Amino acid sequence: MSTQRPSVTLVQGDITEQAVDAVVNAANSSLLGGGGVDGAIHRRGGPEILAECRALRASRYGRGLPTGQAVATTAGRLPARWVIHTVGPVFARNEDRSELLASCYRESLRVADELGARTVAFPAISTGIYGWPMDDGARIAVETVRTTDTAVEEVRFVLFDAQAYDAFATRVH
Ligand code: ADP
Repeated sequence: MSTQRPSVTLVQGDITEQAVDAVVNAANSSLLGGGGVDGAIHRRGGPEILAECRALRASRYGRGLPTGQAVATTAGRLPARWVIHTVGPVFARNEDRSELLASCYRESLRVADELGARTVAFPAISTGIYGWPMDDGARIAVETVRTTDTAVEEVRFVLFDAQAYDAFATRVH
């Protein structure tokens, strides 16, 4: 595999609408659905994604997907080919969990490489229900993908609102 550093692009919008090889889901360790990005992906992607998640729980991930790891399923009816599920850390003031958040981006790119995906869309992992401050979440996201060797050519951060977009734009430019 020939690796390089991916180019980073930013879009304000909905990750479920992205025509990329793989979209990354900010999942929880149950892999059985939740709110935010997770809810939107299962709603729009249809029941095939959940069926594969259930099969993963019944086999490799009987106790759930650990924080910082990533695993792929079909993308069902989404325009993408695959969904890469990763579990971000819950933000904690009394403990530095940055390495786990960086691991989500690195492991997702590693899974993308295994799949042969060349374009990958990421949400701002952990910055919703899991409470990570957006500016710091953006810093970790951009620094990590920029320093990871991968055959992925484009990493597209899909930011839901203008505040998130601006936080990422500050880090990218
Ligand atoms: P987490 O549990 O990892 O915090 P969330 O899904 O709650 O994950 O939120 C992660 C980020 O994704 C938040 O910034 C949230 O505003 C954003 N978000 C929510 N829905 C979508 C969507 N459909 N597309 C892109 N980003 C989204």
